[in-house]
Amino acid sequence: MRFPSVFVSHGAPTLAIEDVPASRFLRGFGQELGRPSAILVVSAHWDTAAPMVTTAPRLETIHDFGGFDPALYAIRYAPPGAVEVAERARATLKAAGFVVVADPARGIDHGGWVPLLLMYPAADIPVLQLSVQSRLEAGHHFRLGQALRPLREAGVLILASGSATHNLREAFRAVPGTPTPEWVTEFGEWVAKALAEQRIDDLLDYERLGPHARRNHPTVEHFVPLLVALGAGTPGVAPRRAHTSTTLAVLAMDAYVFD
Ligand code: ZN
Repeated sequence: MRFPSVFVSHGAPTLAIEDVPASRFLRGFGQELGRPSAILVVSAHWDTAAPMVTTAPRLETIHDFGGFDPALYAIRYAPPGAVEVAERARATLKAAGFVVVADPARGIDHGGWVPLLLMYPAADIPVLQLSVQSRLEAGHHFRLGQALRPLREAGVLILASGSATHNLREAFRAVPGTPTPEWVTEFGEWVAKALAEQRIDDLLDYERLGPHARRNHPTVEHFVPLLVALGAGTPGVAPRRAHTSTTLAVLAMDAYVFD
């Protein structure tokens, strides 16, 4: 059974224990998608110079954040690894010209486990992670996604996890009840429209063309997972915007499904 590639926004780690529209959406999203044979996570929180994949037989929980609710550090999400899928991913990426390094020690970071805890709480589906390369261009991430597309035919869910907008400094400064400012909405809607119209070149040039792109993404690592999901989608088929909301005033929590 072919699985889609999806992009989800994981917001702040507190999403795992909060009852907000985005966490409610993710709780139902796993059931909606069904059970994949494995999950390939592309997380904003694993950023390396060259692509790397996890090959551990079990992915231990990485609590890669500081200064949050102690309850978050007690959460364990340790799914089985997907060693064979990792080998297949390396082979298909190699065939596309990427050199991919295996990491047998790395676990699952919160970009992966926060959405997966909500989507697939049993943690019994094999998972592998692929890193992003924030120092490389947008097109690199799109091409990574294109190379991964065949994995979908084997029932692998490609779960790209970032944030539709991600200015954390402004997010933590926002007082509760602050309405979402226009500079956030404008960027989110620009992305949605470009995706709906399949303007791939514009999306790859989002830093120049997207309104307030730098303010919404002062660094690129939370945006580029979307480009991986886009590359893994079927060419010419517009994605479905499965969710939109904002948290902490300025974090857009959009999710997209690329069939
Ligand atoms: Zn994050």
